[in-house]
Amino acid sequence: MPIIHVENLIKKYNGTEAVKGVSFEVNEGEVFGFLGPNGAGKTTTINILCTLLGFDSGTATVNGFDCKKDPHRVRQSIGLVFQEMTLDNELTAYENLKFHCYMYNMEKRLSEERIAEILEVVGLTDRKKDIVKKFSGGMKRRLEIARGLLHRPKVLFLDEPTLGLDPQTRSHVWDFIHSLMKREGNTVFMTTHYMDEAEACDRIAIIDRGRIIACDRPDALKKALRGDTIYLKTADNDKAAVEIESKFGLSPKRIEGGLSLLVESGEKFIPRLFEKLETGISSINLKRPSLEDVFINLTGREMRNEGPAPRMRP
Ligand code: ADP
Repeated sequence: MPIIHVENLIKKYNGTEAVKGVSFEVNEGEVFGFLGPNGAGKTTTINILCTLLGFDSGTATVNGFDCKKDPHRVRQSIGLVFQEMTLDNELTAYENLKFHCYMYNMEKRLSEERIAEILEVVGLTDRKKDIVKKFSGGMKRRLEIARGLLHRPKVLFLDEPTLGLDPQTRSHVWDFIHSLMKREGNTVFMTTHYMDEAEACDRIAIIDRGRIIACDRPDALKKALRGDTIYLKTADNDKAAVEIESKFGLSPKRIEGGLSLLVESGEKFIPRLFEKLETGISSINLKRPSLEDVFINLTGREMRNEGPAPRMRP
């Protein structure tokens, strides 16, 4: 029984479909990512699942509860971390967490136990009495995630959890999310337009213009491209190219100082190349396809050209 089940979901804004019949399932304990360019429909979908937004047709259930018919029970079983910071800057870390416990009607002793525990997990115990205004971006994000987990939700929803953070902090927040998931055993549903974040998910759905265009494990999506690129330098590139054509039936491309060739599986091909090629190999490199390549292959466009999305590495 999947913990999130979405079928043929349609959401229109003023008559225009933003989500155009999306279907997918998320299994318990998975880190599931929604990857897509700006405007693809990620936030709309996550908001529907969190019951913050209604929808026009289709079905959506979270933890067995219907998002339309039973929104209250959906809300009780989920945690949420938004793109924008929603902590109260004027309160301390402890007070922010305590306020959340009141909202969830948690009993006093249990609240204190959970707050102490979660502050320890996020490494903020010694800062609990400091007002949030003084915290760095990474500390605030950690506190927000901690708050989202206070009531032990079965599913944690993260909408672009590291947007606006510097690369080092992003990587820390990610390590933290993964170790937390291992410890707490929750399911995570997250949206991102960062390829490296999508790589770290158990499974991803690639969404473009309101439609899911692929859904699988990141490595399976890349494997489906059927192509690793091998960059090769040899003692005599012309001779090597002729040899590769005749021995393997492949057509290497001439590149500066060497050859490049597309093969189905680099790891299987390289040993054969060393075995059969008589021209001496001086260097060899293997480039695996990226999720960006997957997106380009499916849409004919680059994901990063779709909007003002900041890139992690220049
Ligand atoms: P993403 O999160 O992938 O960037 P969104 O779900 O925010 O995408 O947006 C999907 C589409 O719906 C976009 O074309 C966006 O302009 C449109 N949209 C989002 N929110 C609204 C709204 N409140 N009113 C009208 N159009 C909206």
